[in-house]
Amino acid sequence: MIKAIKGFNDILPAQSAKWLHLESILADVLGRYGYEHIRLPIVEQTDLFARAIGGATDIVEKEMYSFTDKSEPPTPLALRPEGTAGAVRAVIEHNLLRGDTPKLWYIGPMFRYERPQKGRYRQFHQLGVESFGSALPDADAELIAMTHLMWQELGLKDEMRLELNSLGEIDERHAYREALVAYLTDKQEQLDEDSKRRLTTNPLRILDSKEASTQALLADAPKLAEFLGAESKAHFEQVQAYLTALGIEFEINPHLVRGLDYYNKTVFEWVTDKLGSQATVCAGGRYDGLVGQLKSIGTDNTKPVKSEPAVGFAMGLERLLLLVEAVAPIAELPVCDIFVVAHPEVYSAGINYAQDLRYNRPDLRVKMASATSLKAQMKKADKSGAALTVIIAQQELDDNTISIKDMQTGEQQTVATDWLSSKENFVRQ
Ligand code: ATP
Ligand code: MG
Repeated sequence: MIKAIKGFNDILPAQSAKWLHLESILADVLGRYGYEHIRLPIVEQTDLFARAIGGATDIVEKEMYSFTDKSEPPTPLALRPEGTAGAVRAVIEHNLLRGDTPKLWYIGPMFRYERPQKGRYRQFHQLGVESFGSALPDADAELIAMTHLMWQELGLKDEMRLELNSLGEIDERHAYREALVAYLTDKQEQLDEDSKRRLTTNPLRILDSKEASTQALLADAPKLAEFLGAESKAHFEQVQAYLTALGIEFEINPHLVRGLDYYNKTVFEWVTDKLGSQATVCAGGRYDGLVGQLKSIGTDNTKPVKSEPAVGFAMGLERLLLLVEAVAPIAELPVCDIFVVAHPEVYSAGINYAQDLRYNRPDLRVKMASATSLKAQMKKADKSGAALTVIIAQQELDDNTISIKDMQTGEQQTVATDWLSSKENFVRQ
């Protein structure tokens, strides 16, 4: 038997109904903010991710599904590990930024080779949102406010904690990185193995090490906030002021650095206590340099390329659904309201009846069983979860009637053929 690949999950009908429900709530909130939907390819050139995300990140170092296709010369390609790089590529390629400030969202599978566990898979799904063209802190606050409204609509308002930090501008971060490396280099024997390696590859990631001994060392380390310039500080303070005005609570987490290189200024995470160590449900931040960085690929780098400010986030939908199931479960919706049963000799009339009903009452879900014996069809009706079964037989056809059976009480009665056309007679529970 050939089975699904480890970390790649089937989403079966009982679950998929919940996915659709969740996605429709998220899409509805995005619509209320006037964000537009974009559909992007799942495969891109590997180089796009390497350039955008950064070579010394977990994703590029060890998590990418990359391969070459059959073209000549072979092109290195990768399954997308995240959505921002592709969204920025599309925005540049199609000139969407010319005279406009696109606010975009997408939803779909992402791929990372990591150790599968609860809330962590190799194929997982993200809702991604990217807002281009504004360097002002209101754009950061709008994204956070939008996610806040999503939590409200999903009944998760009390489960999510907002953590904020500012990474400053690239040069400020570089100055801080040097100071951090200088401080830790003497003490590197006390660092955990991962952090020791990161000291030369991506020192800022040491800040979010889970090791208590490393965290203890960091207590006296230089602080990123002390390296922020006046502009970065003012931006960060204004984001906080907007959130306060909106009544959105937050905590400053000076160790929040995010795993991807493209961020600057504001970074944020929505965290929950209900999902163990896979605690981050939604994460994002500002990335003012990425558009320019990707635009300059292939140029001779002599002329500076103009960037465009942007801010975005990605939400892990598996984690979100796990959380919804833990605190505000989505009711299982019956897949059938009306079951139509027809005697095999008048089955064609049954098909016609069901077809008309689906046309006239689009609010109802109408099912039939195949043209087997009446008894076998009734068995299917019993199992279907329908509120009502309609029975079509020769006698009823002659009289212009149908028989209806209330599946809860078992009560049966004869009514006019068009009885279900009226919402006054029957509404979906
Ligand atoms: P983590 O620290 O948990 O590995 P990350 O920083 O790698 O997360 P991001 O790249 O910021 O994650 O992705 C945004 C969100 O996507 C995460 O907060 C999480 O909800 C979700 N996510 C990331 N990787 C996975 C995965 N392998 N399986 C399921 N969800 C994931
Ligand atoms: Mg990760």
